[in-house]
Amino acid sequence: MIHSSLISQSIDNALPEDVLQVREILSKAYELQGLTLSDVAALMNVKRPELLNELFHAASDIKEKIYGDRLVLFAPLYVSNMCVNECVYCAFRKENKLLRRCTLTKDQLIQDVKALIDQGHKRLLLVAGEGVTLSTLLEAIETTYATKNDHGEIRRINVNVAPLTLDEFKQLKAAKIGTYQLFQETYHRETYKQVHTHGPKSDYDGRMTAIDRAMQAGIDDVGIGALLGLYDWRFELLALLQHAKYLEKTFGVGPHTISVPRLEPALGMTYVSKHRVSDQDFLKLVAILRLAVPYTGIILSTRESPRIRRQALALGVSQISAGSRTNPGGYTDDDGQANQFELGDHRSLDEVIYDVISMGYLPSFCTSCYRLGRTGEHFMELAKPGAIKEKCSPNALLTFQEYLNDYASAKTRQLGELLIQQKLQQMSSSKRQMIQSLLDRVKQCERDIYI
Ligand code: SF4
Ligand code: SF4
Repeated sequence: MIHSSLISQSIDNALPEDVLQVREILSKAYELQGLTLSDVAALMNVKRPELLNELFHAASDIKEKIYGDRLVLFAPLYVSNMCVNECVYCAFRKENKLLRRCTLTKDQLIQDVKALIDQGHKRLLLVAGEGVTLSTLLEAIETTYATKNDHGEIRRINVNVAPLTLDEFKQLKAAKIGTYQLFQETYHRETYKQVHTHGPKSDYDGRMTAIDRAMQAGIDDVGIGALLGLYDWRFELLALLQHAKYLEKTFGVGPHTISVPRLEPALGMTYVSKHRVSDQDFLKLVAILRLAVPYTGIILSTRESPRIRRQALALGVSQISAGSRTNPGGYTDDDGQANQFELGDHRSLDEVIYDVISMGYLPSFCTSCYRLGRTGEHFMELAKPGAIKEKCSPNALLTFQEYLNDYASAKTRQLGELLIQQKLQQMSSSKRQMIQSLLDRVKQCERDIYI
């Protein structure tokens, strides 16, 4: 499914920056049909500031066309940092003696989930190192869904755990997960071998085929990603695109999300990368991805600094984590000795929300699609004609109103209410009336209204 010679050829054969060619590709991107490998390779060569601005502008327009101005927020929930693998870039690797190891007990898990609910989160990404049993994971999912705190609960759990067998994936699906995420880390086989020295993860093909098994098991929302900085970002970008196209061709639906984490220092990490991705290249990669796979969500984590996150939002990022901790128990007891990697954004959820609403984005805790069966192909049926934002915007307003009522600081509430009024004013009067009546129900303490 990954043809590395084709990728290398596309990189080698791409013409040096050609204004006419780049503008033609940008016009094609506006048709929202995605881009080919050679289109992407040509865009990767854009360097001139004015042409780069045109590329960024196109990415921003396309994000607006498909998703509107909503920005989905979530937090990772680390269940365990035990791991049988030796990934040289990760603090959880088996041989790292500096890390304090821990798998949450049921009570500790409940405390962490309650802390996340108290921040205002509704969507979590459950994460664990490899070696945690499936039954522990399933129990953690069940406990998380069952945990309530005052007016809140977690409504969607996405999962980022090691590859499973077909039968195990079926059990994961039955546990009502949202998206299953698995990152190849690097699609470059030789590099993959060098950075995954021991354990089941050292099998490149075993990892590559796991997403197929998840889809065969009926999990039709899957997330792929690469850890940028292990190898040439241009190779990883083209490989992500090949992987996405392969999934679309094989299963009729491409990945629901693509994550673009950049390599960050981690406790006990001695690995030195020769392929660090500069801020400029990183932003270019995000913009190109937005044009190349317009219907796929792009996820940005708190690895990035607030400054880069602000810039990337404008270029097509549709989901961000906020208020995150990357160690088991980190939301209740954070000693910094059990983290997977160093964070670039240490702000609380409320601070992040204040920042994004100051920029005019509408924070969303919406979980409606998977609860209404709008997953996989059904989601794409709405996304492709551009109709999904008709769902995203009202749901963002409703869940943001819940946040403002239940969790926001006074300063965020004040600015947030203003933003909601502005968004309502931009709607037709019939739509405004319909949404206003739903918002009134939220203000009267009705919760979990969605369309
Ligand atoms: Fe384990 Fe994942 Fe870290 Fe590798 S990246 S050491 S598999 S937790
Ligand atoms: Fe996501 Fe669907 Fe909600 Fe839009 S309506 S934010 S696509 S869950």
